[in-house]
Amino acid sequence: MTGDRFPAALIFGVPGAGKGTQGEILTRIPGFFHCSTGVIFRKMDPDSEDGLLVRDYSSRGELVPDDVTVRIWRTWMDAQRAIGEFIPRKQLLLLDGIPRTVQQCEMMEEHIDVKVVVHLVCSDIDTMIERIRLRAMLENRPDDLNDDVSRRRFDVYEKETAPVLGFYPPEIIKEIESTRIVADVLKDSLVHLVPVLKSEFPRK
Ligand code: AMP
Repeated sequence: MTGDRFPAALIFGVPGAGKGTQGEILTRIPGFFHCSTGVIFRKMDPDSEDGLLVRDYSSRGELVPDDVTVRIWRTWMDAQRAIGEFIPRKQLLLLDGIPRTVQQCEMMEEHIDVKVVVHLVCSDIDTMIERIRLRAMLENRPDDLNDDVSRRRFDVYEKETAPVLGFYPPEIIKEIESTRIVADVLKDSLVHLVPVLKSEFPRK
């Protein structure tokens, strides 16, 4: 990666909050580029050294170590730029699932300039657990069929990921209730994302 700092928006929230769903819809809108570390990790060659390591942690519901995660993320970003998928002067980077620890926030500061955090808040954990079970089958995530692993993922979120919210200024954190229909969550997310898009990439 070069010395550029990419304007970025974080899509943040507990497992099952719908970060990936929103990211996949938003990335179809010109001006947004979605990057999910969970998706990147699931596409890795399972026999490669990194692939084996990632699998080892994710199958237990644990976080992949920060240095490995950030290295893989940087390599992926470089590749997306090289093939012209990510165009930094035209697209707002939507980060889903990263940064997931305060240390990752620190390591990524030189690469990203976080303009807004869309925090998908969930007041009903049972709904999240149900969503995780459903998507385990739909998205080939066999580990998520195991309730112990799902529960571990929530514990890890509370302990390691929730503190990420304290890293960024409170005024850029926007809470959105995520237990509503996808379209409602999308509508509210856009209320916060579109102004960032317009100010970062004004049309000439
Ligand atoms: P996700 O699809 O975002 O829920 O991610 C699936 C799994 O990949 C997580 O449970 C972690 O094991 C791993 N993972 C994804 N993103 C990160 C990250 N930023 N840091 C560490 N581990 C991650």
